[in-house]
Amino acid sequence: MQLPKSRRRQKLREKKCQYPGCGKIFFGIHISKYCPEHRQDRYRIRKRTKPEDVNIKNQTYKHNYTEVVTMVLNCALEECNNQFEVKIYPRQYVYPKYCPEHRNEYKRIRHLERIDRFDLIEEMKKQGESGDVEAILGNVDEESGTKEVEDIVA
Ligand SMILES: [Zn+2]
Ligand SMILES: [Zn+2]
Repeated sequence: MQLPKSRRRQKLREKKCQYPGCGKIFFGIHISKYCPEHRQDRYRIRKRTKPEDVNIKNQTYKHNYTEVVTMVLNCALEECNNQFEVKIYPRQYVYPKYCPEHRNEYKRIRHLERIDRFDLIEEMKKQGESGDVEAILGNVDEESGTKEVEDIVA
């Protein structure tokens, strides 16, 4: 097959800016989401800085302990019965919610695939856990998914 000489021009159409609170109408190609102003870098919405991110991989555990205690928690992943020990520290309320094995996003997805819970994988995608779910799904290479990113309690 021959490559076309020139790329077909993308048709501009009326679009509504998706930036929260903006809604300005502008002309853009079909994938444009923001008006020229909100396309600037300083307006870029960064997924990772959302405050609720902390509760995706971790849980908030309210307690009044004044010294370090060890607790046994159950892995929060569907159909994983692993238990793991967590040291609870005074005035620290954020703890991992998955067993050590499933603190890895790649392993959680593989586990959910094995038990046929694709609905829960969808759920993970929606939460935008790391934005990498799709990359992991389409990726056979073990290496790329095995990075531990945010293990708050070592
Ligand atoms: Zn805008
Ligand atoms: Zn687990």
